[in-house]
Amino acid sequence: MSPTTPPPARPAARARKGEGQWALGYREPLNPNERSKKDDNPLNVRARIENIYAHGGFDSIDPGDLRGRFRWYGLYTQRKPGIDGGRTATLEPEELDDEFFMLRVRTDGGAVTTEQLTVLGEVSQTYARDTADITDRQNIQYHWIRVEDMPAVWAKLEGAGMTTMEACGDSPRVILGSPVAGIAVDEVIDGTPAIDEIKRRYIGNPSFSNLPRKFKTAVSGLPDVAHEIHDVAFVGVNHPEHGPGFDVWVGGGLSTNPMIGQRLGAWVPLDEVADVWEAVISVFRDYGYRRLRHRARIKFLVKDWGPAKFREVMETEYLKRAMLDGPAPEVPAVPYDHVGAHRQRDGKFYVGAAPIAGRVSGSTLVEVAKAAERAGSNRVRFTPQQKLVVLDVPESEVPALQADLVKLGLHSKPSPWRRGVMACTGIEFCKLAIVETKGRAVDLVDKLETRLKDITDGITAPITVHINGCPNSCARIQTADIGLKGQIVTDDAGNQVEGFQVHLGGGLGLDAGFGRKLRGHKVTADELPEYVERVVRHYVAQRAADERFAQ
Ligand code: SF4
Repeated sequence: MSPTTPPPARPAARARKGEGQWALGYREPLNPNERSKKDDNPLNVRARIENIYAHGGFDSIDPGDLRGRFRWYGLYTQRKPGIDGGRTATLEPEELDDEFFMLRVRTDGGAVTTEQLTVLGEVSQTYARDTADITDRQNIQYHWIRVEDMPAVWAKLEGAGMTTMEACGDSPRVILGSPVAGIAVDEVIDGTPAIDEIKRRYIGNPSFSNLPRKFKTAVSGLPDVAHEIHDVAFVGVNHPEHGPGFDVWVGGGLSTNPMIGQRLGAWVPLDEVADVWEAVISVFRDYGYRRLRHRARIKFLVKDWGPAKFREVMETEYLKRAMLDGPAPEVPAVPYDHVGAHRQRDGKFYVGAAPIAGRVSGSTLVEVAKAAERAGSNRVRFTPQQKLVVLDVPESEVPALQADLVKLGLHSKPSPWRRGVMACTGIEFCKLAIVETKGRAVDLVDKLETRLKDITDGITAPITVHINGCPNSCARIQTADIGLKGQIVTDDAGNQVEGFQVHLGGGLGLDAGFGRKLRGHKVTADELPEYVERVVRHYVAQRAADERFAQ
């Protein structure tokens, strides 16, 4: 089916409980979000921002655009400062809305040139009060953006070949890819051409801009992009007869009702990835549940159908051919994070460095670009662990680059805590947040570096600590060694304070599974450093040789 072909009309049939599946004849919107998307394709909001809202300011914005369609261009209203987390669930959206926006820039595969990195930094300096976070989806996220500035922001980003299109919304969002695609010595295959082809054909294509819910993709020749928790993922694998290609996974996702993706058992060559991706997203668009938003992600359809039926529908109704069967990908002994200096296939080095929980600034990005260029590099990558990697560095330049990065707060030989801590946006800017996250991450790393100094050398595998501001799991609560879900808890004195529900022992890769939620096990935010110290000391004292935390 061509990408511009409208979804196939199917005879109306009675669906179980009427889940709003288009393919079963349910075309009438069953909730306000579906109504909004049907009333006007969200991609059309760009023209209104440029022609109306940028001139009229925040108060001129139609509420349907403000809290809905703006997302298709990466724009969310940010949280008004000073509203505590205990009130998040009690206030109306308009009471939480600030007049400033969070803006996500789509950087598929986390890939930028140093010229683009400079532009990302300059946009932040000029329009975003120098804010910039590296997200765990390899995007750059700004804050304090004004709608009046959006035409200039787009002009600057697009002039450098970047976009915010479908960075958020019920759309095909940024595609995760290996930060070391094309250069890693152990890569099965370079997925970059497939990412480029999906972008070229489908991003901004109205045929796929009204999905039941968000749609997250990963394409990597290495198991280094959390493929198990994507709506669709293509993971590098060697087929015994056909050679390097990709294993296809569908239906992974976190938040509430977390699910590990299911293998379809199909092997796909590089030049067919985009076609297979189109078949998966088409099944989701046409058969996905549109009645209740909390049941709309593809994982619910995959759970009900199972991978065999999902594959059969893809093959018979969309691809019109059978896919080849194939083997499962290798699982890494230790999860990849690409931190440190590593030799590339061509003899040069890549250098991965850790900020704390992805927090950098526009000025830092500008300086990283300069440091990379001084070291002879033109390419930088963001990682799904909120880190950054400078590629193509001659061996002789590695020490100087590492020293330059340390001056910017970016460590390529970080402590296990700086390396393993991630945090979502949290209460500083997120309207759904219940607790503070980024600031706590900085405080936690600082305290653990002091408290656990005596045992740091004995920690050979990273221990991951993921801090989330609410149950939505943007920083992957369930896949961390120590996952923390923000909530209001009662302290020893009976006060309602910020704290966390604890999940222990989650992980991806070898032992992919979700951390055990310790029922009733909650810590206050103030107790967090002491709690993590206790858990880590216990693990170090009790572990068998080479035993990972999650085991
Ligand atoms: Fe916001 Fe919750 Fe996501 Fe954190 S996990 S960014 S608080 S929605």
